[in-house]
Amino acid sequence: MYFGALEAGGTKMVLSLLDENGTMLERSSIPTEDPSITMPAMIRFFREHPVAALGIGCFGPLDLNPASPTYGHITATPKLAWRHYPILPEFQQALGIPVGMDTDVNAAALAEARLGAAKGLGSCLYMTIGTGIGGGLIIGGQPVHGLVHPEIGHQLMKPAANDPAPEGFCPYHKHCLEGLASGPAIGKRWNTPAPQLPPEHPAWDVETTYLAQMCHNAIMSFSPEKIILGGGVMQQMFLFPVIRRKTLDMLGGYLCHRVVDNGLEDYIVPPGLGVNSGVMGAYLLAKEALNA
Ligand code: ADP
Ligand code: ZN
Repeated sequence: MYFGALEAGGTKMVLSLLDENGTMLERSSIPTEDPSITMPAMIRFFREHPVAALGIGCFGPLDLNPASPTYGHITATPKLAWRHYPILPEFQQALGIPVGMDTDVNAAALAEARLGAAKGLGSCLYMTIGTGIGGGLIIGGQPVHGLVHPEIGHQLMKPAANDPAPEGFCPYHKHCLEGLASGPAIGKRWNTPAPQLPPEHPAWDVETTYLAQMCHNAIMSFSPEKIILGGGVMQQMFLFPVIRRKTLDMLGGYLCHRVVDNGLEDYIVPPGLGVNSGVMGAYLLAKEALNA
C-alpha cells in the first residue's frame, strides 16, 4: 500500500510517494502556478502513482474546521489565484481517496513529535524561519486548531534596541515576527541577502533577539516540551547557542525546570528529521485520513 504526500508551498509543490513504513519511493517538484495549471499536473502524478490516501501540508491560512462548508479551502492567501481555492475537496473528488490536510508547519510539527526531535513527547513547537515564518504546535499529541489555527509567525514583537529597521516589513502587521525576522526581512534591513551575511555581522544579534523573544513567548504561552527551529535562516547553526542564551536571559529565572539547568541545550533544537519534517508530516496525515 502506498501513500501520497504533498508539501504545498507558495513557490513549489513537492509530491512524494511513500510505502507503509514511510520509505520514500518517488519524489517530484513542480512550480506553483495557477490552480488551473498546477492542479491537473498534481492529480496526474497521483493517478500515475496510485495511493491509498493523500496527506497535504499546505501553505495557509486554511479552513480546517471539518464542520465548515469551506473545509479544506485555502482562505486569505496573498497568492490571489489560490485564494478561497478548495484544494482538499478537489483532490478528494479527482482521486476518490481519503485526504488529510493541515498547515505545512502543523504537519512538520506532527512529524517531529512522532518521529523526530520531539519523539515520545506529547507537545512541541516547530517553527520555520525562511521566506516567511510559521509555527506548528502539537499539544496532547495532536496539532492545535482553534478559531482557525495558530499563526505564531505573526505575533507582534518588541523592537530590538539595535534594530535599524524596527518598523518591520509585514504588509499586515509591520513589526510582527515574520515582518522583522524572516529571511527577506533580514535582507531588506541590511540590503544584503541573508545567506551572504557573515557570522560577525550585526544582523545576527538583531535576529537572535527576535527569535529568543519568540521562544520566551512560546514557553510562556504554550509550555511546549521542545522547541524545534527549522527553515533556511536556521542553516546558520551558530544562531542556536545565542538564541538559547538570550531566551534564558529573557526568562529571567522564572522557569523552574531541568531544561533550564541544561542551558536549553536539548530544548531549543534543529529538526530531528532534517529537511524531511514536512514530507513525513504529510505522510502521517495521509495515514490518519485512511484510518479515520
Ligand atoms: P521557504 O521558506 O521558501 O520554504 P526556506 O526555509 O529555505 O524556504 O527559506 C528561504 C529563505 O531563507 C531565503 O529567503 C533566505 O533569505 C533564507 N536563507 C536560506 N538559506 C540561508 C542561509 N544559509 N543563511 C541564512 N538565510 C538563509
Ligand atoms: Zn505579520
